[in-house]
Amino acid sequence: MTPDIRAVTILPASSRRIQLNALPPLSLYVHIPWCLKKCPYCDFNSHEWNSAVDVPEKEYLDALRGDLELALPSIWGRRIQSVFIGGGTPSLLSAAGIDRLLSEIRARLPLNPEVEVTLEANPGAFEAARFKQFRASGVNRLSIGIQSFNDAHLKALGRVHDAQQARRAVEIAHNAFDHFNLDLMFALPCQIFDECRADVETALSYAPTHLSIYQLTLEANTYFSKYPPRLPDEEQCADMQDWIHARLREAGYSHYEVSAYAQPHQRCWHNLNYWQFGDYLGIGAGAHSKLSFPQRIVRQMRYKQPAAYLRQCAENAPIQQEYAVNAEDLPFEFMLNALRLTQGFPVHWFSERTGLPIRAIEQPLRTAIARGLLTRDHQMIIPTPLGQRFLSDLQALFLE
Ligand code: SF4
Repeated sequence: MTPDIRAVTILPASSRRIQLNALPPLSLYVHIPWCLKKCPYCDFNSHEWNSAVDVPEKEYLDALRGDLELALPSIWGRRIQSVFIGGGTPSLLSAAGIDRLLSEIRARLPLNPEVEVTLEANPGAFEAARFKQFRASGVNRLSIGIQSFNDAHLKALGRVHDAQQARRAVEIAHNAFDHFNLDLMFALPCQIFDECRADVETALSYAPTHLSIYQLTLEANTYFSKYPPRLPDEEQCADMQDWIHARLREAGYSHYEVSAYAQPHQRCWHNLNYWQFGDYLGIGAGAHSKLSFPQRIVRQMRYKQPAAYLRQCAENAPIQQEYAVNAEDLPFEFMLNALRLTQGFPVHWFSERTGLPIRAIEQPLRTAIARGLLTRDHQMIIPTPLGQRFLSDLQALFLE
């Protein structure tokens, strides 16, 4: 359980100076911390909602508004490039609630006219009329947590929806939204190759503009980490992964990040901004922020437990922890994100986003190149297929 730290903790920045000549793009993340039921593999900040009582929607929206207003001075004058309403299951909120949330955001922040507004949804809480209203309120991209189209695997994952509801949800998304993402998982308990293939083929039959395909991993502090299910072995997982890459490439999707595939011009702007070490303001229970200033980069975390967050918002103090990132930690933080991009990143981004000279990572860059994990020319730094396969080893080279 997260300790209830009352005072905001400011940790000291290091003595090494950083200098940002321009601030990176800025996104807004809004966290809705409730789900119908907690899935046994989930380590997100999501809390089971007792369906006998309504989600405290009004109180939570009031708290989000107050949280945003308190944050305004730290992002004054900066334009928002994307909004992501994630969770949890944000689609548990009513259409009027999402409408109010987006209106309050628009009234307080300058949004890019082309702003990407994503809402996460789960098939257990999906009705066509409500999704049309979400669209009318300004949501222009839907991300649906399908995970599988197979009843036995959905049951093993503890999901509240079945295969029929999953298909219905995708049909609704397909009719109401031009841009939608499907989240799928592979290497599920007792899953065989043909079942993985069937899930991916079913997903492709709906022509989603974006697919996020994750390997099931056992995260600490989850039910599955305590009672591990029987998962496919390493070789089976590698076969599934290799087939997924090849099949999606053949279907016209570009694999642009470890787990992300997109049709042309359909990459998720919001997630790209994380991987490109952009800035984000996170509001809501447990939300994280990364905000740059000319000579420091600050990270924040809001109170995690919904009740504590609501209480702290009422006292105008939603931030539980805030610190300036040590300059020594920035190379690793940058590379942890940017190396996830399968097509690499321009060399100049490192200095633009961290405020440090590229020579700060000269030695680990040389080591990674010598080991065949990276290539580099005067324009781009790109992880090789070997570097992508052993990504955590590659990232670890940049730990000081
Ligand atoms: S629906 Fe998603 S966020 Fe909610 S508990 Fe399951 S995995 Fe976690």
